Amino acid sequence: METKELDNEYVAHSYGRFNTALSKGKGSTVYDESGKEYIDFGSGIGVTAFGLCDNEWKAAVEMQLDKMQHVSNLYYTEPCAKLAKMLCDKTDMKKVFFANSGAEANEGAIKFARKYSYDKYGDGRSTIITLVNSFHGRTITTLAATGQDTFHTVFGPFTPGFKYCPANDIEKLNEMATDDVCAIMFECVQGEGGVNNLDYDFVKAIEKLANEKDILMVVDEVQTGNGRTGRYFAYENFDIKPDIVSTAKGLAGGLPMGAVLFGEKLKDTVTPGSHGSTFGGNPVCAAGAISIVSRIDDEFLKSVREKSEYIKKYLMNIKGVKSVSGMGLMLGVEIEKDAKEVANECLENGLLVLTAKTKVRLLPALNISFCELERGLKILKEVIEK
Ligand SMILES: *Cc1c(COP(=O)(O)O)cnc(C)c1O
Repeated sequence: METKELDNEYVAHSYGRFNTALSKGKGSTVYDESGKEYIDFGSGIGVTAFGLCDNEWKAAVEMQLDKMQHVSNLYYTEPCAKLAKMLCDKTDMKKVFFANSGAEANEGAIKFARKYSYDKYGDGRSTIITLVNSFHGRTITTLAATGQDTFHTVFGPFTPGFKYCPANDIEKLNEMATDDVCAIMFECVQGEGGVNNLDYDFVKAIEKLANEKDILMVVDEVQTGNGRTGRYFAYENFDIKPDIVSTAKGLAGGLPMGAVLFGEKLKDTVTPGSHGSTFGGNPVCAAGAISIVSRIDDEFLKSVREKSEYIKKYLMNIKGVKSVSGMGLMLGVEIEKDAKEVANECLENGLLVLTAKTKVRLLPALNISFCELERGLKILKEVIEK
């Protein structure tokens, strides 16, 4: 049987897959099993931050594979320790817990937001405000945290203790910040929810509440982190200092890794035995992450912002494009046509794009070459204008 038939027969159908079986790639160029070439504007949903089979990343991973692939978290390992330092140096955060995915990172963020409050104030202060249209993951608790009703069916009962504030509604936010609230959790640019930017003033209102009421600022940087928005973390665009940051997707350049970063307030909240993960901080993933994180410096981030400006300008000149949202290389394109249809047509024409709600979503590799960028944009333009 060929791949698609095998998959349809034996893999549980939790995804609506695009009609192609991808087999290999280099940089932002991908090939399917028939040898057809595609430009990749999705990078595995913002995961392959430096594209496919990046030489430096590959060398770092291979070097670690030759030493050892895994030991338990009962022992110290160098890649994990070095990566934690690197992330703290970049952000002014104080401690890092390693997980294996975005949902797991958010679980850790939620657990320790609650533990901070419990340690300091005791019971009755465990509520977390999240935003309408947010997306925080697929576990029962991160689904509960996700502010979209469509995710709150079938699998209940869900974890209690979440309430949802409409994004950018400062009045509602202030109303909701009652004495039982320990944290406000948000994406600076909502990804799955439709590439929606938060207003600067709204984020500042969160900061104000946080300062006044000792409510923790928990920023979900699973999608927006690691250079995606043109800053190392998207919260830097809003001049805030979060208490907890979760990240994953692009962190290890395509290997499964998540992380929770803790600021000054929480530096003693994580105690031995309070949390754990068998694979968390795995040396191969950590080695891959070091190769990615170490290269996201100021000059690199500037190139991300420049590419972003170039793409936005290009898109706004396409007939049928109504608006472009997002930041850096996380862009949502509002079009007159149906986004899903456009994505399928792009695929046929040799371009991989994503959708988010009614928008076409672009998440190219951060180091995509101008040549690949040009080729991809040309295909997108032809499909939208057709
Ligand atoms: C993708 C995503 C998650 C979930 O990450 P997984 O690795 O799929 O568990 C959580 N939050 C945000 C903002 C995301 O984009």
